[in-house]
Amino acid sequence: MAEGSYKCTDCDHEGLWCQACLVRVHQWPPFHHARKWDNHTLQLFNRKLFPASLLRPRMAFTFRLLKLFHMLNHVGRPTL
Ligand SMILES: [Zn+2]
Repeated sequence: MAEGSYKCTDCDHEGLWCQACLVRVHQWPPFHHARKWDNHTLQLFNRKLFPASLLRPRMAFTFRLLKLFHMLNHVGRPTL
């Protein structure tokens, strides 16, 4: 798989796809939403940061924080 700059917001796949691979993988299911990451967003990923917004990221979370949130949400079952 070539290095790419496309991300599907509906798939569980964590990596990025090149355009050709994104199209090939999404022949089925065709209704997923894909976004092209700009250089600013890719720089966040390279620094292990996840943008808080997909359109105009101004804030980001560390992958470590997201992993902790995921763990606490599933294991701790907090009441919100
Ligand atoms: Zn998808």
